[in-house]
Amino acid sequence: TKKIGVLGAGQLGRMLAIAGYPLGQKFGFYGMNGEEPSALLGHMFFHSSDDVTSVDALAKFADVITYESENTSVEQVREIAKHTPVYPGEKSLFVSQHRGREKGMFDQLDIPCAPYQVVDSLESLKIAVEEIGLPAVLKTTTEGYDGKGQFVIKDADQIEQAWQAIGNRELILEGFIEFSRELSIIAVRNAANEHVYYPLVQNIHQDGILRYTIAPAQQISEAIQQQAESYMQKLLDELDHVGVLTLELFETLDGLVANEMAPRVHNSGHWTIEGAETSQFENHVRAITGLPLGSTAPRQTIAAMVNIIGETGPVETVLKMPNAHLHLYDKAERAGRKLGHINLVSDSPEALFEDLKALSGFMPK
Ligand code: ATP
Ligand code: MG
Ligand code: MG
Repeated sequence: TKKIGVLGAGQLGRMLAIAGYPLGQKFGFYGMNGEEPSALLGHMFFHSSDDVTSVDALAKFADVITYESENTSVEQVREIAKHTPVYPGEKSLFVSQHRGREKGMFDQLDIPCAPYQVVDSLESLKIAVEEIGLPAVLKTTTEGYDGKGQFVIKDADQIEQAWQAIGNRELILEGFIEFSRELSIIAVRNAANEHVYYPLVQNIHQDGILRYTIAPAQQISEAIQQQAESYMQKLLDELDHVGVLTLELFETLDGLVANEMAPRVHNSGHWTIEGAETSQFENHVRAITGLPLGSTAPRQTIAAMVNIIGETGPVETVLKMPNAHLHLYDKAERAGRKLGHINLVSDSPEALFEDLKALSGFMPK
């Protein structure tokens, strides 16, 4: 038995605990107020409102610390790591919390990504547009999620508007990638240097937010899966990464182009709970506690994950479907908020798409 301390107490921590308890692990969470999705699942809960020493209390409780978000403070992790191991380590966190550093690492490892430039003024943005061309996507370098803090510049007369909308801070301009599909891959590495990879999945977004995932992605050649795994192997090794690492990719005529990575379990991996032999959550727990990694093989021909966003919706429909699995996070309804997800597992794509139709009440309008 190991005690795992989680910085954050949202749905990702909650699903880590649900996966870790059967392995005999114990969990403690560090959250804001005890109202979060993970709070009641922990053996211990530490409030940030107490004072800073509650992070120390979590670190004392735990044998190993992990985190839910790439926005976790690097300084905090560095402090904790002086006496309690933190996985993934500081380097994984530092690189993946800043889009400029992330793309710098892609370049260094010869992983294709959009042309980009970090800018910090309207003047430097104008120069970057000259160099990169339009259309282009302007993003905050840090803290963006669900497509927040982004502006697609289509025409030069929008440059000032884009700067006004999200400027006055450091931004990154990325060339717009013409893609056929959005894919992602999840890999896991433990300290014994075992690497495992889940199959590529297809992600369907609306308004920048993930709506559903098809797993495995259909019509993926062995060569493309190998290309994705080779990107991941380079990243895992360069970062000396321990735990789950996720890479979002664009499928293009020239192969896979990296978008961004996350040093953690990921929404596009939620299908693995019922869809794979070992879930991403269990494999993260195994990796950070020094256990052998589990099989990433799908349990059925095809699976899907449908996000429940904004309002809980017709969950009775889900409960009546034999191969649908409901996961609610115990969060209050709010527009655009991820409240839960539904996993579907099927023995054929046709059956899966029938089931997806039955879930149209949860799909983007
Ligand atoms: P997440 O919630 O996945 O963390 P995020 O807010 O960090 O998202 P990105 O993944 O960078 O944002 O972008 C959100 C979406 O915008 C992408 O999934 C993709 O659909 C689109 N997008 C982002 N960058 C580009 C690009 N360079 N070219 C084309 N489309 C892009
Ligand atoms: Mg992101
Ligand atoms: Mg993304």
